[in-house]
Amino acid sequence: MQITKENLIQLDKTDPLRNFRKKFHVPEGFVYFDGNSLGVLPEITKERMQEVIEHEWGEGLINSWLTGWGDAPKRIGDKIATLIGADSGEVIAADSTSINIFKVVVAALQANPTRKVVLSDSDNFPTDLYMLQGLESFAPDKIKVKITESFDIDNQLNEEVSALLLTEVHYKTGLITNMKEVTKKAHEVGALVIWDLSHSIGSIPIDLNGCEADFAIGCGYKFLNGGPGAPGFLFAAKKHHESSKPILSGWFGHREPFAFSGEYISAEDINQFQCGTPPVLGLVALECGVDLLCNVDFEDLRLKSKKLGAIFISLMKDMCNMHGFTLISPQNDEKRAGHVSFSHEKGYEISRALKSRGIICDFRTPDVIRFGITPLYLRYQDIYYAVKQIKIVMESADWRKEEYLVRDSYT
Ligand SMILES: *Cc1c(COP(=O)(O)O)cnc(C)c1O
Repeated sequence: MQITKENLIQLDKTDPLRNFRKKFHVPEGFVYFDGNSLGVLPEITKERMQEVIEHEWGEGLINSWLTGWGDAPKRIGDKIATLIGADSGEVIAADSTSINIFKVVVAALQANPTRKVVLSDSDNFPTDLYMLQGLESFAPDKIKVKITESFDIDNQLNEEVSALLLTEVHYKTGLITNMKEVTKKAHEVGALVIWDLSHSIGSIPIDLNGCEADFAIGCGYKFLNGGPGAPGFLFAAKKHHESSKPILSGWFGHREPFAFSGEYISAEDINQFQCGTPPVLGLVALECGVDLLCNVDFEDLRLKSKKLGAIFISLMKDMCNMHGFTLISPQNDEKRAGHVSFSHEKGYEISRALKSRGIICDFRTPDVIRFGITPLYLRYQDIYYAVKQIKIVMESADWRKEEYLVRDSYT
């Protein structure tokens, strides 16, 4: 099909996901390509938050712990489980992804106690590597961190490795790692695998149990649209619940938190991965985002995601003549998840110039511009409009304005 504006408008009219856009608050005049960094606000979240604040908190006060607050981490975890191929009772919504990384790395070492090495990839998301470094500095006798380049992971995967910590979808390039294949290889040498699903959940179909994954963690505020700083989630395969002994042993992970006993005895189920009092307001907003995703046909979602990405890449070539951009995401739709990224030596300035025109993308050092592809609220025609704006920015050298040289502190 030839990609014209008219054709894309036509595709929007027949898009099976077309009714989802109005379920989100997409600000006028924006094409939002940052849903992989902070998802947009679902309309229902506004109503639900108001209800929780006015009625459940305002009127119900402490009684509300008994009517929906107390079991929220597990209830939302069970909903998330349906999005990642996990069983009920294997997922909890809690804490930030970083904190959850701490918990699962410890649990993996406990499940595989004769080995000390935790292996990861130097190109992994920084917080994953930082959490490993912190653990190692505190307990060097229990954990030895080995960070290697991604191409070398296979070579380093040996009988010394207790756990392998990898991110399924690369945060810069959108490259999908074959979870099933890598998990199998790790298991062959007796290593466990922890998957970071932060850029996968809500973007691509995931089948943790189909891959026999051991542990996973992920983010609530990206494709799940759970709101800024939304709680993350943690998956622990049932077979690993017994060996785990929480080190972040807060009272919400206790077998009987309200027995107020002096001794910590962990819950036997997934609740052992809770720590302190759950952040109810954050969980309520997260649940709204999760509920929306639970009503999506992931085959439709993935198909549209691939098409939007492919059209973006094609238009960058045909309409924009690349203009010094180099595609760093996989060209192959099957290997590319929910964003399309380019490198450009003036990437930062260009991203700022685009933002000032309502094309909201983001920049990752040293030179990467990322365009998040969120099929629930992005339209085919938005891609056309965005590439047209990129072309205008590049041809007018709009990005050379001095104000764009100053770096924002959050990008
Ligand atoms: C976004 C992201 C995180 C975020 O961690 P927080 O603790 O929520 O800040 C972690 N890992 C990956 C791979 C991410 O993309």
